[in-house]
Amino acid sequence: PAQPVYAGDLPEGLQKISNIIAVSSCKGGVGKSTVAVNLAYTLAGMGARVGIFDADVFGPSLPTMVSPENRLLVVNPESKSILPTEYLGVKLVSFGFAGQGRAIMRGPMVSGVINQLLTTTDWGELDYLVIDMPPGTGDIHLTLCQVAPLTAAVIVTTPQKLAFIDVAKGVRMFSKLKVPCVAVVENMCYFDADEKRYYPFGQGSGAQVVQQFGIPHLFDLPIRPTLSASGDTGIPEVVADPQGDVAKTFQNLGVCV
Ligand code: ADP
Repeated sequence: PAQPVYAGDLPEGLQKISNIIAVSSCKGGVGKSTVAVNLAYTLAGMGARVGIFDADVFGPSLPTMVSPENRLLVVNPESKSILPTEYLGVKLVSFGFAGQGRAIMRGPMVSGVINQLLTTTDWGELDYLVIDMPPGTGDIHLTLCQVAPLTAAVIVTTPQKLAFIDVAKGVRMFSKLKVPCVAVVENMCYFDADEKRYYPFGQGSGAQVVQQFGIPHLFDLPIRPTLSASGDTGIPEVVADPQGDVAKTFQNLGVCV
């Protein structure tokens, strides 16, 4: 595997994590958080010890996508480390659980907050930490790659031609940071109605990605009312319907990360 470019020593709280998986997209609203959360709960369903780090400080989605009993992070008074909250056995850290509203911050402050949240958390022993990356390819991504040795990246996109250009940017960024992109998830690919399948955003850009960049896996996710509802009820789709088609797609994704 490629050597990550993280600088300095690995923070103590991250030392017992076997795999750090970044779920990334170049644009907002394509379903990155939906994929991150469902991937994490799929891995947990397969028996792994899993955590989710929501690295989006401007629009943290984790607090609406899962429903932990305790919605505030606790700081251990002795070690000063952050203790994640938990829902169905998955450890969770998000700025949205930090007890503050949406903050107005400049870039370096955002990087500082993310760095602090990620590295001062006592994650304990984890097989997978899934990071819900902020959208884009900027400073925050660099910060994350410097503090945490990312094992692999999953890129989420939609089928439009324009999205292809964004995917290319994302793949190039991770390749510069020496993080392998193991899969692309093409979200909102199609929907079924009246016994017909419709492709509202066109077809073919996923296949082009796989061909052009040699990414080993491509997964399609349909537009599903249940997927959007599960984002609001706080129960991930793969938990609500573990035998469904969406859960099967995530199991296949889980195997490749
Ligand atoms: P991002 O993290 O990229 O901003 P989200 O995962 O928050 O995107 O998704 C944006 C919105 O679209 C959410 O309300 C989510 O529930 C909904 N959504 C995402 N994927 C699907 C899908 N395949 N079918 C229906 N709704 C979806």
